[in-house]
Amino acid sequence: MLITRAPVLVLNQNYQPLNICNVRRAVALLGKGKAEPVGESGEYLHSAADLIEKPVIIRLFYMVKRPLHRRKLSRREVFVRDGYRCQYCGAKARDLTLDHVIPRSRGGQHTWDNVVSACKPCNHGKAGRTPREAGMALFSAPREPRPNPYAMFHPGRVLDEWRPFLPWVQPSQFSDFEPDFGSVAVAVAGD
Ligand SMILES: [Zn+2]
Repeated sequence: MLITRAPVLVLNQNYQPLNICNVRRAVALLGKGKAEPVGESGEYLHSAADLIEKPVIIRLFYMVKRPLHRRKLSRREVFVRDGYRCQYCGAKARDLTLDHVIPRSRGGQHTWDNVVSACKPCNHGKAGRTPREAGMALFSAPREPRPNPYAMFHPGRVLDEWRPFLPWVQPSQFSDFEPDFGSVAVAVAGD
């Protein structure tokens, strides 16, 4: 990885983790007096004019409204929202399925408010019918979960040096996540 592409944790003015950017971007923010480095890396970058310590964490001098990261509609996220329970019979099932409350064949959308977790027997029993037609009641009306402001701080992309500011992120036990810091968009107001 090019050193300028290395990830840097961006803290808000109040030290809350805000985002991840790369070294090039962090150095630009430091150079413009918009942020200060937090901690030391012991590594240095050479620029035309001087030697700059490579930032690992920076803190902005102003508050940024946290961008909302809406939850992606996926099987797993729906199961998590529903507590891994069938929304018709309440059973906890290993092999849950996704059910479209209003069937897609009847114009139902693939949206948070029309998708629920269902066990296989309930899903098959309901078939292409609406809950009312099938005489089945939902435990609760499905809704879009609240956005997760820390979605980008996946264990696989958190550096050890950042952990004091991200105490709830546990080290990843899996290496199935391919970090791609280059594509992380950093929205910084007034820039
Ligand atoms: Zn069920």
